[in-house]
Amino acid sequence: MNLERRSRNLEIVHSKFRGSGAHRFWECAGCINLAERRSRNLEIVHSKFGGSGAHRFWECAGCINLAEKARAMKGYDSTPSVYATEGTVAHKLGEICLQSGEEAESYIGEIFEADDTYVTVTPNMAYAVQVYLDNIRETYLSEFGTNKSFLEIEKRFTLKNVDPEAFGTNDACLHIPFHKLVVWDYKHGKGVTVEVQFNKQLLYYALGAIEGKEDIEEVDLRLIQPRKPHKDGKVRGITYPVEKLKLFEIELKEKIKATKDLNAPRKGGNWCKFCDAYKICSEAKKNVWRGKKSNTVANAIEDFK
Ligand code: SF4
Repeated sequence: MNLERRSRNLEIVHSKFRGSGAHRFWECAGCINLAERRSRNLEIVHSKFGGSGAHRFWECAGCINLAEKARAMKGYDSTPSVYATEGTVAHKLGEICLQSGEEAESYIGEIFEADDTYVTVTPNMAYAVQVYLDNIRETYLSEFGTNKSFLEIEKRFTLKNVDPEAFGTNDACLHIPFHKLVVWDYKHGKGVTVEVQFNKQLLYYALGAIEGKEDIEEVDLRLIQPRKPHKDGKVRGITYPVEKLKLFEIELKEKIKATKDLNAPRKGGNWCKFCDAYKICSEAKKNVWRGKKSNTVANAIEDFK
């Protein structure tokens, strides 16, 4: 059954002029080339000092060294989880729709290749991604009419003032000249509620967005997490003046520097979740942040599911 499904998927992936897409290439001749680009390789190179791990190395300077050691060990499984791969595809869907002007629902049933596997766009994924598209489109329409030329999509950045290995990708960023940036971070996951206050990942993205833009006074950060209910809604925002971001930059630089000490201390806490070193870390085994629950790594991993 799986093999059948897989071969069907392959057929669909390679049939670029299939009937289900005719209505699209009828109207948009450029969609075939863009769609081909999307299926080639969705593999993403992550910085070891990336924004998603900042909350962890902020607290546990030793995690970078130990995670590298863990990843080099025999038997280490680096296969991304099904949730991570779905997130990659949802981001790619958002990127394609922003570039083409299409709605996410027009991709329902289509198959994307990512992390050496195939993911079908479901109505649920399309609905979630559409929340992200709508917020971006409403914002640039209200700021610029129909002009979206100041919108950056999936733009790579390096935090040159921080560390050559500190880099990342912003999902989307709108530059409103001589005023501000609006930076979007899309979260497809529904396992962990992400807050905007004191969110180091968002601050990291804000630093990436202001690189090279001298006319900015503030950054409006918008986190979009459509699949996880939250009292403040699916779209949550926070604004930082550039001066505050510069203070964060100084602290970030110090925190990254601290991780480079071979004897950097380790400290367990709820940031251990998703740490690559988790299974070999003696600090994690102490499990002090888990209250009265059993102190085994197996149970801690259960907690994280
Ligand atoms: S598992 Fe926790 S304590 Fe151990 S290295 Fe990772 S973040 Fe630090």
